[in-house]
Amino acid sequence: EAPQPDHLNRELLYGLLDSYLKNDVVSIQESIVHHVEFTLARSRYKFDTREAYFAAAHSLRDRLIERWNDTQAWIKHKDPKRVYYLSMEFLMGRTFLNALHNLGVMQPYQHALSGLGYDMEKVQQAERDAALGNGGLGRLASCFLDSMATLNLPAWGYGIRYEYGMFRQVVSEGFQKEQPDYWLTFGYPWEIQRPHVAYPVKFYGHVSVHESQDGRQNFVWNAGEEVTAVAYDNPIPGFKTPSTINLRLWAAKPCQEFDLEAFNTGDYVSSIIDKQKAETITSVLYPDDKTFEGKELRLKQQHFMVSATLQDIVRRYKEQHETFDAFPEKVAMQLNDTHPTLGIPELMRILMDENHLGWTRSWEITTKVFSFTNHTVLPEALEQWPVSLVEKLLPRHMQIIYDINWRFVQELEQNHGISGDKLGSMSIILDTEYGKMVRMAYLALVASHTVNGVAAIHSKLIKETIFKEFHDIWPEKFQNKTNGVTQRRWLAQCNPPLNRLITETLGTEAWITHLDLLKGLAAHAEDETFQQKWAEVKVEAKAKLASLLKDLTGDDLNMDAIFDVQVKRIHEYKRQFMNILSVALRYDRIKSMTEKEKEEVVPRVVIIGGKAAPGYDMAKRIIKLISAVSETVNNDPDVGDLLKVYFVPDYNVSLAEVIVPGSDLNQQISTAGTEASGTSNMKFAMNGSLIIGTMDGANVEIAEEIGEENMFIFGVGAQEVPALRSQREYLQVDPQFQHAVNLIQNGHFGWADYFSPLIESITGSRDWYLLANDFESYLDAQERVDQEWRDKASWTRKSILSTAGSGKFSSDRTIHEYAEDIWGVEPLPPTIPE
Ligand code: PLP
Repeated sequence: EAPQPDHLNRELLYGLLDSYLKNDVVSIQESIVHHVEFTLARSRYKFDTREAYFAAAHSLRDRLIERWNDTQAWIKHKDPKRVYYLSMEFLMGRTFLNALHNLGVMQPYQHALSGLGYDMEKVQQAERDAALGNGGLGRLASCFLDSMATLNLPAWGYGIRYEYGMFRQVVSEGFQKEQPDYWLTFGYPWEIQRPHVAYPVKFYGHVSVHESQDGRQNFVWNAGEEVTAVAYDNPIPGFKTPSTINLRLWAAKPCQEFDLEAFNTGDYVSSIIDKQKAETITSVLYPDDKTFEGKELRLKQQHFMVSATLQDIVRRYKEQHETFDAFPEKVAMQLNDTHPTLGIPELMRILMDENHLGWTRSWEITTKVFSFTNHTVLPEALEQWPVSLVEKLLPRHMQIIYDINWRFVQELEQNHGISGDKLGSMSIILDTEYGKMVRMAYLALVASHTVNGVAAIHSKLIKETIFKEFHDIWPEKFQNKTNGVTQRRWLAQCNPPLNRLITETLGTEAWITHLDLLKGLAAHAEDETFQQKWAEVKVEAKAKLASLLKDLTGDDLNMDAIFDVQVKRIHEYKRQFMNILSVALRYDRIKSMTEKEKEEVVPRVVIIGGKAAPGYDMAKRIIKLISAVSETVNNDPDVGDLLKVYFVPDYNVSLAEVIVPGSDLNQQISTAGTEASGTSNMKFAMNGSLIIGTMDGANVEIAEEIGEENMFIFGVGAQEVPALRSQREYLQVDPQFQHAVNLIQNGHFGWADYFSPLIESITGSRDWYLLANDFESYLDAQERVDQEWRDKASWTRKSILSTAGSGKFSSDRTIHEYAEDIWGVEPLPPTIPE
C-alpha cells in the first residue's frame, strides 16, 4: 500500500534517505557486477567495455532513482507551485559523467571500474549521445534542467522520446550525407519506462454540440484516430543536492482499445498494420533548425506532446485539489519557442469540455499559467499552420483558436481603439493567397502572461520588429532572459585541468554553483606564474582536441598554432561562408610569400563543424566549399603547417565537450541582429577561448562582462543593418573580398560551378547577410588576432579575463531569473540527514 501524501513526513523521508545505497568502492563494484549478471544477463567473469558501461550506468541509475523518488515524494508532500518546461527538443548528450559528477561519486566509480579492469575514459566513450534536439534551443533546455535540479526547484521537463534523434552526419568527398540515428539499439539505461502512465491522444474526426440540462453547450470531439502516449522518465540530478527532477518524454504506441469491429470484418493483418502507424508519430526528430516546415506529422508531434503533457499535469493537480481555483498558484508552464503552443487550446479544451468550466473561467486560468520564449527573429522560422490542416487534424482546437482570436480582436477594438488594417495585421489568423494561416507566435503572445527574448539585444529587437504591435498594447508582457549554460557540464566536467586550476586559485569549488565567483580570477590575470599555469592547462586541452583530430584525419597538429574554431549549425546567417572566404585569402597570401616572410606568419588550425538541415541546399554547398578549401590547403607543401583547415563531421554535444576547451579562438560572426543569443559563445568564453565576433546576440553582453578590449569585435551594428540592406547594390566592394570570391569562382578549389549559387548569394543586392559589408572589418579583426597571439602574455591575460568575466552566463542565473520574474516558483530543497 503506497503511503498517502499526508502520511509522508520528514521522519519517513529521513528513514528512506538513511537506507540509500552505499557509495564505497566495494558496494559500487558489487552493484556493477550485479547488473552485469541480472540486468544484462552476461557472465560476471567476462564482460566487455560496452557491457561495463551499461552495468555501471544501471548501478548509477539505481542511485538516481532513490533520489528521484524521494524528491518527488517530498514535492508532492509540500505541494508547492511547480514549473513545467515544455520543449520539443532536449539535446542531452551523454549522461554518465554528468551523473557521476552531480552525485559526487566520480572517484569511487573510477576506482571501482579500474579495480574490475576497466578504464573510466573508455567506459564513458561507450555511451551514445541522446541527441533529441537540433542545436542551441534543445541544448538550452538541457542546461535548464541541470540548473533547475541544482537550484532545488520543483520542476519537470516534458518532451518527446524520438526513436531517431538528430541524424548522423557523414562527409563523403566533401558532401554531407545524412544517416539515421537509431540511438536506442542497445537500449537507453537512463530511462524508466512507465507503461501505466499513459494517456489517449486524439486526432481528426468532428465536433458535435450537445445541450446540457442547465442550458449550456457541451462540445464533444469525436476523434477519428487515437493513439496512446506512454511516459519514459529520465532522472535529472542536481549538483551536490539530493534534488533529482524528472524529464518525462512521451512515446506513441497504438491505442489500447482495439476496434474489434474492424478486426472481425475484414483484413486482420492490415488492421494491425494500421495500428502500428501510431508509432510513427514519435519516430523522428525534424532536423531543421531555423526553417518552418509545415508537415502534418510535425503538427501531430506537437499536439501529441502537449496533449499528453497537459493531461498529466491536470491529473497530478486534481489528485491534490478539488477545484481548479488554485491551478494558477500551483502550475507554471514555459513554452520553449512556439512548438508547444497548441498546449493553449488544449488546456482550454480540457477545462471546458472535460471539466465543464465556462470560457471566461478557463481563459482566466489559461492566461495565468503560460509564458513563452521566442528564439529567433528570422521570418522563415516563424510557425504558421494552415487553418485547413489544423481544422482537419484538431477540429475542436481550431474552433477554440477562432474563439480566442474573435475575443482578442474585440478587445483590440474596444480597449485599444484599433481598427482597419491593423486589426488584420495583429490577428492570430492571417489571410494569405494560399489560404488562412494560424500564426502560432501570436496565439502564444495572446495567451501568455509573459514573453521573453533570450539576450538583451534580441529582447529589444522583438519589441521593435516582429512583435512591435503587441508591445505597443502590452509592454508589461515583455521581458528579457539572457540565456546561460551549465558550468557543471561545460567547464567543471569537460575541462578537468581548468576546473582544478580555478578551484585551487579561488580556494573553493563554490564557483560550480556560484559562477559569479569566477571574477576572483581577474586579480591573477597579470600574475606571470598564474599565466604560465593557465597556458599549460590550455595546452592540455588542446592536446586532447589534437588527438581527436589525429584520430579523424591522421594529421599531427601544430601545437603552436591558434586553434580557431567555428562549431554550430551551418546557416547563412551564421556566416561560415565568410570564415572560409577569409581562410581562402589567408591561403593565397601564404602562397605568394617568400620563405623569409613565412617566418612571420602566425600558424592557424581552422576547425569548422556543424550540420546542415537536409533540405538546406546553400548550407550543404557551404560544407562542400569548406571541404574543398581544406583539401587544397592541407595538401599544399608551400603552406606546411602554417595553415590547416578541418571540417569535423557529426558535430554533437560530446564533440563539443572536447572542442570547446581545446580552442584558442572562437568565431561568433553572425550578421548583427540575426543570432538571438548563441550559447556556444558562452561555453567558449568560460573555457578561456577568445571571441572574434560581431555585436550580436549574447556577444553584446559578453563584451560588457569581459570587456570589449578582450575580444575581437568587428562589423556593422544591428541598427545599421536594415539601411545597409537596402543599399547593398551600391556598395563599393572591398578588393580583398572580391579577390577571395574570385579564387572560388575561378576554380582554385575546384567545383566552381557547384559553388556558383553561393557566390551569387553574396553578390550585389542579394547579399542578405552583408558579407561584403563586414569583410574588411572582419579581416582587420583577424589581423588583431594574429598580433595578439604574438604576445603570449597578453593573449593569456585576455583568456583569463574571458573566464573571469563569464560568471553571468551560467544557466543558474538564467533559471533563477525565470523562477523569480516569470514562474513565481521557489526552491524546495529536500532535507537530508547529517
Ligand atoms: N550544437 C551543439 C551540439 C551544441 O553543443 C551547441 C551549444 O554549445 C549548439 C549547437 C549551439 O551553438 P551556437 O550557440 O553556436 O549556435
